[in-house]
Formats: sequence, C-alpha cells, structure tokens
Amino acid sequence: MSTPAATAAFLPASLWNQRLFTGTWQPGSAAPTAVIEPASGKALGEIANADAAQIAQSARVAANAQRDWYALPYDDRAALFRKAAQLAESNFDSIVDWLVRESGSTQPKAAFETSITIKALYESAALPSRSQGEVLPSSAGRLSLARRRPLGVIGVISPFNFPLYLAMRAVAPALATGNAVVLKPDPRTAVCGGLVIARLFELAGLPAGVLHVLPGGAEAGEALTSDPHVAMIQFTGSTGAGRKVGEAAGKHLKKVSLELGGKNSLIVLDDADLDLALANATWGVYLHQGQICMSTGRLLVQRGIYERFLAKLVAKAQSLTVGDPASGQVHLGPLINAQQRDHAAKVVKAAVDAGATLAAGGAYKELFFEATVLSGVTRDNPAFHEEIFGPVAVVIPFDTDAEAIELANDTEYGLSAAVLSSNVGRALKLGEQLRVGLLHINDQTVNDEVINPFGGVGASGNGTSIGGPANFEEFTQWQWLTVKGDAPAYPL
Ligand code: NAD
Repeated sequence: MSTPAATAAFLPASLWNQRLFTGTWQPGSAAPTAVIEPASGKALGEIANADAAQIAQSARVAANAQRDWYALPYDDRAALFRKAAQLAESNFDSIVDWLVRESGSTQPKAAFETSITIKALYESAALPSRSQGEVLPSSAGRLSLARRRPLGVIGVISPFNFPLYLAMRAVAPALATGNAVVLKPDPRTAVCGGLVIARLFELAGLPAGVLHVLPGGAEAGEALTSDPHVAMIQFTGSTGAGRKVGEAAGKHLKKVSLELGGKNSLIVLDDADLDLALANATWGVYLHQGQICMSTGRLLVQRGIYERFLAKLVAKAQSLTVGDPASGQVHLGPLINAQQRDHAAKVVKAAVDAGATLAAGGAYKELFFEATVLSGVTRDNPAFHEEIFGPVAVVIPFDTDAEAIELANDTEYGLSAAVLSSNVGRALKLGEQLRVGLLHINDQTVNDEVINPFGGVGASGNGTSIGGPANFEEFTQWQWLTVKGDAPAYPL
C-alpha cells in the first residue's frame, strides 16, 4: 500500500487504518471507508467510521471530561495549543503530503492550509487567558458579575475542501474556550480533517475524553446534531445539508453555527489594471479547482474592457496545467470525486444549452477537469445561479455600477464579494451596496486570515461568524453570578 511520505511517527498506519479517536484509539463499528487518492483513484488505506451508538458514547464521555478540562489552570490550557502548533510545525511536510494525496490539493494550497491551521492553534492559545466578562452595578453589598462560560460539548461537522483548516478553525477555539469537542470530519478526507487533528492534540497532551474524532457520513452527522449531550453544532458544508442541520438543531434546542455555500462575485470595473484583474480572477476562480466556498462564481466585467479581459482570461485558462499534484508542479489538481466532477460537467452543459459560450476548457479526464471559461452568461442561465464547485469561470458583462450591484446581489447566497478598480472611492461605494459577509476592495473573493470574523448572509449562513473576534462569543455563553456576604431575610 502506498501512503504519503514521512508519516510513520506522526500518523502510523496502526492509527489511521481502522481506528477512531475517542480519547484512546479504538476500532469503529460502522463499515470502514476506503481512503481514496482522487488523483490516482487508488486506495491509500481504510478509515474507521463511527455509528450512532459510538457518537452517543463519545458525547457522554466528553460531557464529563469537559468539567475537569475547564477546571485546569488557564495557562496550562493555553500551553497545550502552543504545543499542538509546534507539533504541526515539526510535522509540516507530512501534513502537506497528506493534504496533497487525500484531498487533491496542489502543494502551495496544502502548504497554505497547513500554515493557517498552525496560526489558528497559536491564536487559540490566547483564548484561555482572555477576560471573562463584566462587573455589573447592583445593590449595596452584592457583587454582580456577567461572565462567559463554555457551552459544554461542541459538535463540529466539517467538509472535504480545506479539511484540516475548516475543522481546526472550530475545534481549536472551541477547546480553548473550555469546551469538549466531538468532531465528525467528511469521510472523504477523514485523515487530514480528523486524524491529523486528533494526533496533534493527543501528542500535545490533551486530557483523554476532551476531544473525539469520529468519521462518518450524513447519518453520523445527524446523530451528533440530535445528541442531548451536545450543546452546539458548528457546521461547515453545503447549504442543503446546512438547512437539515439547522432544522435538527432547532428541534433539539441547540446553538448552531452554519457556514455554507456561496456564489461570489468579483466585479472588474473599467478603470482596473487588466493584468492585475486577470491575476485576481485566475486565483479566485481556479484555486483548488474552484472547490472553495469563497471561489469566484461570477466574474462581472464592465463592457468597455469585457472583450480584452475575456481574451486574456481564455489564454490564461488554456495555459493552466491539470494533473496529479503529488507528481510535481501543476496549477490544478483533481476534483474530489466523480459526483463533484459530474455536477460541474452538468452545469457547464446546461449553461451552453441555455446560450452561454464555452470559450475555454469544458472537458475532463478521470477527475481532472480543464480550466473552463463560460462567456456571455445571462441572468436566466443555470451557471449564473448555481454554485459549481469546479474550475469554471462564469463571465458576465455589465454597463453601469448600479447594474453590477444588481447582478451581484441577484443570488440567495451572500458569502464573499470583491471589487477591482483604480478608484478606491468608487469601488468602496459600490461595495457598500453588496449583500455579503466578506467584502474585499482591490482583491479577489478567496481570503481568510484566521483572525478575521468569517461568515455569510442569506443562504451562506445563519448570521453567525467564526474566527478572530467572533470565536470567544461563539463558543461561550453568558452566566449571571451574584455574591452576597449573607443571604437576605426575605419577608414572605
Ligand atoms: P456537504 O454538505 O455535503 O458535507 C459537509 C459535511 O456535512 C460532511 O462532513 C458531511 O458528511 C456532513 N453532512 C452531510 N449531510 C448531513 C446531515 N444531514 N446532517 C449532518 N451532517 C451532514 O458539503 P461538501 O460537499 O463537503 O462541501 C462543499 C460545500 O460546503 C459547498 O457548498 C461549499 O460552499 C461549502 N463550504 C462552505 C464553507 C464556509 O465556510 N462557508 C467552507 C467550505 C465549504
């Protein structure tokens, strides 16, 4: 069996092959899933899956372990996140290798993802020592405090595309604010999105039972969402699954954070530098084969520069290489699986059938999808509305700034948007009208610095954010505490 290099000490096969992390490593009882390398179609091994009973057992254990974890001195808890970050640094190449092989990431994407994961760990190390609340005015002789407390057990459900970071951005702050965590990674990327995280915290010395990593599919996610020991679900994934998670969380009275899909516009105004616009568009559309929630799903280009920009984009797309990212330098790796590829192919075909022009690409071999350009896309075209999650530029001309605003806002999603212009005032004025959670002036749509709040509006989320200043509030809740010297003698 071929496995990514240099993993022996950090992720020995005895751990990732057929094991679950429930404080200690043990076999899963649901049928295991093959860990498939999308570039080669080969199985790298098998990963254990959890059933509903194991999820319930882990949530119960986590609820007990959480109290002792939160009772530890804050600086002991903080030290653990620094240790986990250092372990990730010393196993950097091995983690990158896994991201390349298991998730089809190019080397630079995998290295970037590993770096921001390490940053998320260091940032989380600052949470245990944070001031916990406020002293409230009250009657004489009574101390009245409003303080933030952990929620208890947080269930984290994560996707395949940035599997390590999108799980860690929730797991690390949830733990650091004193919660226990049950993580259910996507079964397609359960090594990078689950076992790497379990191993980092295990080696860093996290007490047993505080973190559980239980791979599995929708059924496992549903069991986690309805479990009575779980106080909150942090979900990152599709809007369709997010709606179901939101519904179940509501029914079971859980706090829920939903980070969902997007159809993000990059608006290129006629005074933008064309070469910089091309560089931004290429990055926003094609990074990780377009499998990013913030990927540029619409390229809105002002009429005066539309033809020149399109010609450059077509030439650029045709120059992008697609292949196995483990074999060397390629611009694009494979899509995650046949289902994802078929979805992208279906939207491209439907777009052309509805009158769009296939200006570049459109074909695929196995899971390798060519960098594609669809031009002349109108508002009634399926490619205008659907999240493609593939390497497809959807290029749309517009005449006025007001029309660009209208086009960009014509979606149920509201995650990210960006405006390119040499006139910052004009771009900002336009940007102010866009209904999104993430807005970038003179940049493209795919951005995350870890310390920023991250969240969307509309069908991209439920009004929550995680990251940076949002984390402390998201993973804690208020408690009112009063203290008196003597209990009052109430007259009743
Ligand atoms: P997905 O919704 O199919 O799966 C995401 C996770 O949810 C997986 O772990 C899956 O097993 C689990 N799941 C599926 N159905 C469930 C259910 N009914 N109950 C509980 N859990 C369930 O999404 P995906 O295909 O892995 O990821 C792609 C989607 O995720 C895209 O729409 C993308 O835009 C979105 N995404 C959003 C963000 C963000 O931060 N907003 C980040 C990355 C991806």
